[in-house]
Amino acid sequence: MTALVSVERLAINQITTKPWALDNAIRGYARHGVHAVAVWRDKLAELGQPAARRMLGDYGMRVVALTPVRVPVATDGDVQSAMDEILRAFDEATEIGAESLLMLAGPPMTMSPEKMKGVLAERLYALKQRAPSSLQLVIEPLHPIYAATVSPLNTLRDALDLCDQVEGLGVAVDVYNLSWDWDLERQIERAAGRLKGFHVSDWLRETTGDIRYDRGMMGDGCIDIRRIREWMDRAGYRDTIEVEIFSQNNWWRRDPDEVVRTCIERFHIYC
Ligand code: ZN
Repeated sequence: MTALVSVERLAINQITTKPWALDNAIRGYARHGVHAVAVWRDKLAELGQPAARRMLGDYGMRVVALTPVRVPVATDGDVQSAMDEILRAFDEATEIGAESLLMLAGPPMTMSPEKMKGVLAERLYALKQRAPSSLQLVIEPLHPIYAATVSPLNTLRDALDLCDQVEGLGVAVDVYNLSWDWDLERQIERAAGRLKGFHVSDWLRETTGDIRYDRGMMGDGCIDIRRIREWMDRAGYRDTIEVEIFSQNNWWRRDPDEVVRTCIERFHIYC
């Protein structure tokens, strides 16, 4: 027998309703009784921070995360401007009252994994020193399909190794990125106290086009989401369950109201 989770734990990552600008997303989620959102920086820039802050407050919306920033792995190139960009994101997050900042490691480059880990740990440490104390920094490992182009950080184990070196750093567990990993249950257990995000979607058996942009709605694929949620429960995670669906051929083409309704229905059945 598995315990069900309250819909109060449902958050929506606004990429799930990509056609909506941030103001429409805030109104739309509130209309369906959803009061937690992960905000994308480009959508925030379109609306502007003062207007966003007012609307988020008016609609009683929690900003569980601002996303994304990229922590450079390279030792050459313009590292300084990449780091400065993250400092700007600290200000944006503070301005709209975001609880966390979602960070990706990358883009990748040719470097030994040991060296990469050292560089990343150093930069994450430096960022942690500069981050407002109210802002939780969160690193998200991505699926190995992203290894060559977006991020070479591909397992929860490696993300936790970084957390071991940077006190206060948290991790996000995304079922699309991590469900393939046979060691996931054990790593989630190891992550206790550092679990700062849980992202859900589904892995379709028949993917069309670019696999990175063809995530399924919960229940349409082969991930046992509830089982992973129970591992999160056991490790003491009690925060939001965030629907994050990149779907250029399906859900992004539908009426976002229908998408939100479906998220809520599937959340009850599969999360
Ligand atoms: Zn995610």
